[in-house]
Amino acid sequence: MGKRSGRAVRDRNTQEPPPAPEPLRVAVPDCHTHMDMQAPDVAEIVAAAAAVGVSPLIQVGVDVPSSQWAAATAAAHPGVWAAVALHPNEAPRIVHGDGAEGVEVDDTDWAGKARPAAGWAGLDTALAEIDRLAALPEVRAVGETGLDYFRTGAEGVAAQQASFRGHIGIAKRHGRALMIHDRDAHDDVLRLLEEEGAPDTVVFHCFSGDAAMAKLCAERGYYMSFAGNVTFASAQPLRDAAAAAPPELVLVETDAPFLTPKPYRGRPNAPYLVPHTLRALAEAKGMAEDDLAAAVAANARRAFRLD
Ligand SMILES: [Zn+2]
Ligand SMILES: [Zn+2]
Repeated sequence: MGKRSGRAVRDRNTQEPPPAPEPLRVAVPDCHTHMDMQAPDVAEIVAAAAAVGVSPLIQVGVDVPSSQWAAATAAAHPGVWAAVALHPNEAPRIVHGDGAEGVEVDDTDWAGKARPAAGWAGLDTALAEIDRLAALPEVRAVGETGLDYFRTGAEGVAAQQASFRGHIGIAKRHGRALMIHDRDAHDDVLRLLEEEGAPDTVVFHCFSGDAAMAKLCAERGYYMSFAGNVTFASAQPLRDAAAAAPPELVLVETDAPFLTPKPYRGRPNAPYLVPHTLRALAEAKGMAEDDLAAAVAANARRAFRLD
C-alpha cells in the first residue's frame, strides 16, 4: 500500500492486460496459476499461453471449492493439470473462523469469503476431500500447502502446521508432488518436512529464499519454482538464489493473477507472461534461453509426471 495519487501510480495500476511477449522457441509450462482469479475464460487463457510457448498449465486450488474446480477444469481441458490443497492461510480460517485472533486473510495473496469456525473436525473434513481429489488422474500435485507466517499470529500457526502435516501425508499416499507455499517460514517448512518425511517430489512454489536456502533445497533434491518477482529490481537476493539453483531443479510459474513480471508490475498477470520470467532466470543463471527452457520443461514433466 502506498500513495494512491499521482499519474505514475495510476498508470502502473491500469488493469489493461500487458501485450504478448515474443514467443519461446522451446515450450515451458506454467507450473502454478490461478485461472479462477483471472478475467478471461480457461480456453482463452490456455490458447494465449500456448501461442507464446507456455504449455501445459497447472491450475492450483487454495480451498475445497477451488480444488474441486481445479480438478474439474483439468479434466475438461487438454493442456491443464490440477493441484489441490488448502492454502496455509485457509487452514486457520477453517478451524477458527474469519476474524479470530491470529487469523488474518492475506488479501495480497488470495481473497476469501467470511465464514464461521468449523473447528478441528472441520479441518479433518476438508483434508478428507483433498485426499479424495488427490487420487484423481488429472491431479498431479498436492498444493498449495505449507506455512505462511507473514500475517498469521500464534493461534493460526497450529492450524497451519497441522494442515501442512496432513498434506504431506496425502502427497505421499498418492505419489503426488508436494507444492509448497513458504512465506517467512523457511525453517519450520524444512523442519516439518524432515519430521514427517518428505514425499519423493517437493516443489517450493514462488521460491522466496536466498542463495543459502537454494543450496539447502538443492541438497535435499527439492525443486524451486520461480515466479515474476524474480524480475523485480529489489529482488537481487532471489536472482542470486536462482543462480545457485541447479538447472535440473528449476521450474517457472506465474502465480497469476499475482506477481506480474517487470515491466508490467501492477497489471494483471496470466500464464502467457511466463517468457518474461524465463528470460530473467536465464540471465540470472548465465544460460541460453533455449537451454534453460528445455531443462525447465524436462523438470516439470519429471516433477508432475506430465504425459
Ligand atoms: Zn502461494
Ligand atoms: Zn498460488
